[in-house]
Amino acid sequence: KLVSREYREADTIIEINGVQIGGPSLVVMAGPCSVEGRKQLLTTAEAVKAAGATILRGGAFKPRTSPYSFQGMGEDGLKLLAEARELTGMPVITEVMDTEQVDLVAEYADILQLGARNMQNFALLKRVGRTRRPVMLKRGLSSTVKDWLLSAEYIMAEGNQAVILCERGIRTFDDHSRGTFDLSVVPVLRELTHLPIIVDPSHATGRWQSILPMARAGIASGADGLMIEVHPNPAEAWSDGEQSLLPERFVELMEQVERIADAM
Ligand code: PEP
Ligand code: MN
Repeated sequence: KLVSREYREADTIIEINGVQIGGPSLVVMAGPCSVEGRKQLLTTAEAVKAAGATILRGGAFKPRTSPYSFQGMGEDGLKLLAEARELTGMPVITEVMDTEQVDLVAEYADILQLGARNMQNFALLKRVGRTRRPVMLKRGLSSTVKDWLLSAEYIMAEGNQAVILCERGIRTFDDHSRGTFDLSVVPVLRELTHLPIIVDPSHATGRWQSILPMARAGIASGADGLMIEVHPNPAEAWSDGEQSLLPERFVELMEQVERIADAM
């Protein structure tokens, strides 16, 4: 299979505007859960860039559990992400939820994110496999490694080899946190696949208090990088405020994970 170490022995390195994912340097994708407006996005983008983040995240099309929750700014959000890229020079990653949005999102985004809830949306996997954009595939809430890698294979089989895997927590019996952060999957993935591995303590734990220790653990586990939600005013965030870090806490996180990454 295309995802396997047997097919490709060397680690895959994906390069976007001088930022390498899967190479020797630490990759940190940071930004708000949702794009909420110009000031909110640009303020956050400048703050995470100053702290050392390399890629800007922000959702414009949001997969919300309730249909009555904020669904995202849509194309206006994509335009703001493009503006933030201009301002900071950081590549942007944003989610695409539907085959019909792929061309639109690919116009603005540097990396297409496929969310946990769409990990086995096979039509969407095939469709992003036919674009030229790198794709970050988040692990499904109840997906095995085998399911996950076969979903990556769907993208690669269509011709797009630039796939990034993202562990974002799985559903287990316990509810002390939003999910169970399965960091023991990292060494297993390393053996099975050459694809870059990102870990997302924000969605995995759902609690800002857990993000710093679990980000450290994620880098110590051997992941290539992190996805972290940051918001200038978490209490007022339109989505995932409970798990969003204030910019000053994100600075502390960067200092600590950089030290761990340097020591590895
Ligand atoms: C997100 O990254 O904003 C998101 C919705 O993540 P997940 O698909 O992992 O829930
Ligand atoms: Mn979120």
